[in-house]
Amino acid sequence: MKFCDSCGNLMRVKNDEDGRSLHCRICDIKKPLTDQLTIEVKNDKADQKIVVIDDKEESEFPVTNTMCPECGDMREAYWTMQQTRGGDEPPTRFYQCKTCNHRWREYS
Ligand SMILES: [Zn+2]
Ligand SMILES: [Zn+2]
Repeated sequence: MKFCDSCGNLMRVKNDEDGRSLHCRICDIKKPLTDQLTIEVKNDKADQKIVVIDDKEESEFPVTNTMCPECGDMREAYWTMQQTRGGDEPPTRFYQCKTCNHRWREYS
């Protein structure tokens, strides 16, 4: 989702002759569609919906400095914690290295 910088309204994807752009109906401004947005066109019988997904969502995970087994060095990595079903077991931490994108888990 992309929101207008000036009024905060959801911006719509417009198909123009010169390509796709984001359009705010309130301010009547247009912005070029950047590479970080992926377009997914869902075709159902009645109407055509365009869903804009922000590809940078991943960067909202917390970042920590940890040992990446792939790089073999201290790296910045995204991490997230997941409690296993047992409940009395320690939670598992999942990491993703920002440098090589390697994913691994760690039991504390
Ligand atoms: Zn606006
Ligand atoms: Zn790495």
